[in-house]
Amino acid sequence: MLWRAVMPDLLQISWATIWITSAEVGRSAMNDADPRRTFDAIVIGAGVVGACCAHYLIEAGLQVAIIDRGSVASGTTGAGEGNILVSDKEPGPELDLALLSRRLWFDLIDVIGDRAELEPKGGVVIAHDDATLTRLREFAEVQRAAGVEAHDVDPMQLRELEPHINPQILGGVHYPQDMQTQPMLAAAHLIARGVQSGRLSRMTDTEVIEIIRDESGRVTGVRTPSDGISAPIVVNAAGTWGGQVAALAGVDLPILPRRGFLLVTEPLPITVHHKVYAADYVANVASDNEGLETSAVIEGTRGGTILIGSSRERVGFDATLDWSIVQRLAAQAVEVFPMLAGVQLLRTYGGFRPYCPDHLPVIGADARVPGLMHACGHEGAGVGLAAATGYLIAQAITGRSLDLPLEPFAPVRFDSTPERVGAHA
Ligand SMILES: Cc1cc2nc3c(=O)[nH]c(=O)nc-3n(C[C@H](O)[C@H](O)[C@H](O)COP(=O)(O)OP(=O)(O)OC[C@H]3O[C@@H](n4cnc5c(N)ncnc54)[C@H](O)[C@@H]3O)c2cc1C
Repeated sequence: MLWRAVMPDLLQISWATIWITSAEVGRSAMNDADPRRTFDAIVIGAGVVGACCAHYLIEAGLQVAIIDRGSVASGTTGAGEGNILVSDKEPGPELDLALLSRRLWFDLIDVIGDRAELEPKGGVVIAHDDATLTRLREFAEVQRAAGVEAHDVDPMQLRELEPHINPQILGGVHYPQDMQTQPMLAAAHLIARGVQSGRLSRMTDTEVIEIIRDESGRVTGVRTPSDGISAPIVVNAAGTWGGQVAALAGVDLPILPRRGFLLVTEPLPITVHHKVYAADYVANVASDNEGLETSAVIEGTRGGTILIGSSRERVGFDATLDWSIVQRLAAQAVEVFPMLAGVQLLRTYGGFRPYCPDHLPVIGADARVPGLMHACGHEGAGVGLAAATGYLIAQAITGRSLDLPLEPFAPVRFDSTPERVGAHA
C-alpha cells in the first residue's frame, strides 16, 4: 500500500516539524528597512489573499504596508494545494466570484510571469456508481447554464483524458477551466514586485496586537509590539485567524479552522494530467459536519510529484498527524489510480482552512468599524478566489464601481443583534 511506503519518512519528520520549518524558511532578508510609518492602507496577513489585496491596492495608486507575524505564506497559503476551481461551485455568489477570479489570475500571471507555476490543466470529476453519475451530470447542467464549461465524458473519453485511471470508473465530467498554481510562489512574487515598485512595504515577523481606533471609532492604524503604524484603512487578510484579528477591532467574525491533510508522492514521469476528484468532494466541501470527511482528490504537478487529498474536519488548531487519515487518503487515491499502489510517499502535510458557517468568504467594509475591511474566511477556495478578492477590495476602497456585488460576502451577515438583523433584512 502507498501509505506503508512512507511511514519511515514520516516517523523521522513529524508534521509539526514540517510546519515549523516551512514557517521559518524565507524569514531571512524578508523585512524591509522602510522608515515610513504612515500609509494609505495596511494589509494584515501576507498569504495569497493579502498579497492580492496589496497588489490591487498599489495598482490603484495607494501606498501600502503588508504585515505578517510570520513569513510570507506562512499561514494556510503554505499548506494548501493551489487549485483555482470552478468545477466544485454551485451557481451563486461564490461561482460568480470564482469565474471573475479565474480571469484575473491570468492578469496576475502576466504581471509576475510564469514563476507561480500556473497550469490551466482542467479538472475531471468522476463517479463510481450510476446514481452519483446522474447527480454529477445534473450538477454540471446547472453549472453550464451559469457560464461554466463542463463536458460529460464516458469511460472511453475518461481514459483518453487520464490513461492510468481505474477502468471500472463509470464516467464523469471534464471541466477545462480548472487550473492550478503554486500559491506560495504567487504570494511571494506579487509581494516582491510590490516592494520593488516602492509602493509596498513588507513587514514580516511582526504581529499586529491592536487595531487602533479614534474617539469616533474609526480605524487609524495598527499597533505591533514595537511600533504604531498609521493608515485610515486596515484590511484583515488573516485567513483562519481573521476572527482573532477582527476581535482586535472589537468585532466578531465566526471564522473557524477546518483541518486538512495532503500527501505528496515521489516525483514520477507525468501520469496524472488533470485534477481528478470524486464527485462526493463537492458534498464534503459544502457540508457543515464537524467530523472527518475524506474524498479522493489526485493531481500531478509540474515537478512530477502527485498531490493526494483531501480531508476536512473541525478539530480546532490541533496539528497532530492522524495516521488513519493518511491511510484513508492513500487508499482512496489507489482506488482511482491503481498504479499509485507501488509509489513512495515523499511527505505529508496539513493546514487549517478558514471556515465560515455559510461557506462564503468575508469580503468588504465592516459597517461596525469605519475603515476596517475584511478579506478572509475563504475556506478551501482561498487560492482560487484570492485574485477577485483583492480586486474587489481595491475597487471598494477606492470608491470605483464594483464588478460584483459584495452583499453576499458582507461581514455583518453573521451579526445576530436585533438592530443588525433589521438593518439587513
Ligand atoms: C489541505 C488544504 C488544501 C487546500 N487546497 C486548496 C486549493 O486547492 N485551492 C484553494 O483555492 N484553496 C485551497 N486551500 C485553502 C487555501 O489554502 C486558503 O483558503 C488560503 O490559503 C487562505 O489564504 P489567506 O491569505 O486568506 O490566509 P493565510 O495564508 O493563512 O494568511 C493569513 C496570514 O495572516 C497572518 N496573521 C494572522 N494573524 C496575524 C496578526 N495578528 N498579525 C500579523 N499577521 C497575522 C498569518 O501569519 C498568515 O500568514 C487548501 C487548504 C488546505 C489546508
